[in-house]
Amino acid sequence: MGQSVVLTGIVLNAMPIGEYDKRITLLTRERGKITAFARGARRPQSQLLAATNPFSFGEFEVFEGRSSYNVSKATIRNYFRELTEDLDATYMGFYFLEFADYFCQENNDEKEMLKLLYQSLRALSSPAYRKALVRAVFELKAVTINGEGPDMFSCMHCHSKENLHFFSVKKGGMLCETCRDAAIGRRILDDTRYTMQYIISSTVEKLYSFSVSDEVLKELTEIMEEYLRHYVHHTFNSAAFLLK
Ligand SMILES: [Zn+2]
Repeated sequence: MGQSVVLTGIVLNAMPIGEYDKRITLLTRERGKITAFARGARRPQSQLLAATNPFSFGEFEVFEGRSSYNVSKATIRNYFRELTEDLDATYMGFYFLEFADYFCQENNDEKEMLKLLYQSLRALSSPAYRKALVRAVFELKAVTINGEGPDMFSCMHCHSKENLHFFSVKKGGMLCETCRDAAIGRRILDDTRYTMQYIISSTVEKLYSFSVSDEVLKELTEIMEEYLRHYVHHTFNSAAFLLK
């Protein structure tokens, strides 16, 4: 017999298995990303029916078998219902889930990513935040947590902290006025640099506490698109549904 443990986490995806079961991927505080089976979760009267849908966040009681986990009970604290009532927010939310699934690993410490995902889905549920901004913040913070973020604080060539006006995707960070090379860098607004510095260094809890001009948002969006294309060699299926 396996041992029962309670894991706090969020459902990243769910797949039907057999007639009534589901296989789900959970991002948990305690075990990183795990795969678990939810027996009978597709029966209409099952307590696990809604609890094992994507976005469900809460406590999952699982039995640890030799090669897999089995969900026996779930106490859901947030279904993110406001999010799933808005189609654009839903698509964006699925993109975040897929992004986290791609970046996270089993038995790895994914606490920061779980926090980021939770806060980002909350921001997405709120009309106060522009979705394009939530997306850029999520992407930049996610690659930063994963150790693949850009260096926005010093020149990639001479390490100077002064006159940083150019961003180079290839170099993975800023270039100063002296080291600028038009072929590999683009001039960016100081406000865009400050915004990116803030996202990189802020705690996840304080991430969604600012707003930016349309100009900064446009630049930020372009930079993140180019950055991900260069460093993340993966096509996210859900990204195809996102509005430009
Ligand atoms: Zn330099």
